[in-house]
Order: sequence, then C-alpha cells, then structure tokens
Amino acid sequence: MNRKTFLQQLGLVTAGTALTPALFNWIKQNGPFYPIRNNVGYFTGRGGTIGWHITNESVAVIDSQFQNSAEDFMAGIFDFGPGGPARYLFNTHHHGDHVSGNGVFRSGNFEIIAHQNVPELQRESAGSNSESVVAANRVFDDEITVESGSEIITAKYYGRAHTRGDSVIWFENANIAHMGDLVFNRWYPFIDTNGGALIENWISMLEIVANEATADTRFIFGHGNRDFGVTGSSDDLLYMRDYLSKLMEHTQAGIQAGQSPEEISAIEQFEEFPDHQSAGARLSLQSNIEAAYAELTS
Ligand SMILES: [Zn+2]
Repeated sequence: MNRKTFLQQLGLVTAGTALTPALFNWIKQNGPFYPIRNNVGYFTGRGGTIGWHITNESVAVIDSQFQNSAEDFMAGIFDFGPGGPARYLFNTHHHGDHVSGNGVFRSGNFEIIAHQNVPELQRESAGSNSESVVAANRVFDDEITVESGSEIITAKYYGRAHTRGDSVIWFENANIAHMGDLVFNRWYPFIDTNGGALIENWISMLEIVANEATADTRFIFGHGNRDFGVTGSSDDLLYMRDYLSKLMEHTQAGIQAGQSPEEISAIEQFEEFPDHQSAGARLSLQSNIEAAYAELTS
C-alpha cells in the first residue's frame, strides 16, 4: 500500500479518491470498526476518527467525518448492539473532517452536542454556505455529562488549543477518552490560528488531561498513525506536549536571535522528534513554525 493510500486511511488526506482494491481489503480485515472495551470502540473510515458506545438502550458517537463515511458508519454500527432512543453525537471541534456527516445523525434523531464556540466556528468556516451547516443543538461552556445506557459520558473544555472549541470526551466507566485533534499521533498537527488555536495552552492542557488519566486509560486520537496507532496512553499525550514545547522553544530562540520566519523554518525536522511525519503543506513543520511565530509575536 502506498503512502497516499495510508494517509487517506488515517484521515489525513480528504480528497474524494475511490478506494483501491488493496485498501478495501485492508479495511475489511482491519476494520473500520474496532471495539476497545465496555461497548466502546472506534471507526476509521475517512477523516477524523469516530468514537462510539452502543448498548440496548443507547448509542453515543464522537465526530461524524463526511456524509458518505457517516452513512457507512450508520450501516455497520448496529451490528454491535441494537441501540435505543437515547442518541447522542458529540463534535470534538468544528473542522470539516469531523462534522461534515452531522446531517446523517440529525436525520437519525441524534442530539448533537458541542462546546459553545463550535457552531459559530462551523458557520465562519462555511462562509457563504453557512445556511447548510448542521450544528450542535445542545452546547456547553466548561463541561457536560450525559448517561448513555450503562456509561457516563462527559465532554470537557480545557481552553483554546488546536482551535477555540476543542473538547475531550470521556467514557467514565470504560476509562477511555476521545481526544479529537488535540492529538495527531506523530504527525505534524494542523494548528488553526484563524480558528483560535493557542499552542501555549495546548501544551498545558495535554499535561492536565494526562494527569487526569490512570495507567489503564485508553485515548482515541483524531488522527492515528500506521506505526504508532489510532489509540494510545497518556505517554502519547505527553509526547505531543513535548513536541509542541520544542516547537515554541525553537521559534522563540530564532526570534531572539533576530531571524526571519523563513530562517526559523529552514529546518527539516527536530532531531528529538525523528518519527514525526508530514501530510502536506498545512501539516508540516514549516506551517507549525509559522503558527508558533504568529503566536509569539502577536
Ligand atoms: Zn481539526
């Protein structure tokens, strides 16, 4: 399987390319539904990883990817349980590869829940198409808790990070948390400066979440990695924190030395982070340095 195909599988390339037979077989053997434990699992499809919990009474879903993959998800999820009248969809944040399938869930009578900044950010990004946006009908400020069958699900806001509307969704009993795009596992992340990103707080919130976890907590990442996984532990959160700290230190040192943004970005990789991969210009070390430079000089 070539690199581009893997990037699509992992949700990092969003062009509507048809599945190759090799990828189709790979998905058939390896998912796209992956149960973890306590009726909680994840689904890869296309775009940001979907998290799910299904019982005899309820179904709760984290993020909706795109219309076609949301339809694939709905066609397969009920193999894992009959579901029931309690139906929730959480949006971890507003980016298109996490919310473009919202309409499929709205038609399925799901209540859509997100941080209060998310609907506005969705409309801002949609520009002249803002009327077609399907956004949350229940929003929260700091946190919100719902019961989904035997599970308690809490969505928590930790301040500006990847955008100004990210939340972490905790499945309390299963001890699993969906990180949305707060973790790009060993990819150079997208840092959405226009959408209110704040690297400084992203660093501290990853540490706060890692401290809230136990050794047994499993984290689901918005964008997983073939070599490092779609799920992981708090060590992966701290690794991402360390990458962002290095990014800020490197950029700050360049600013102090009087270097231009071009000079500061003239670096192929940080030697401490040789495993980070790039998935295009927007997800590169250079664009990360640009975002850090903007934050440090604003
Ligand atoms: Zn995102």
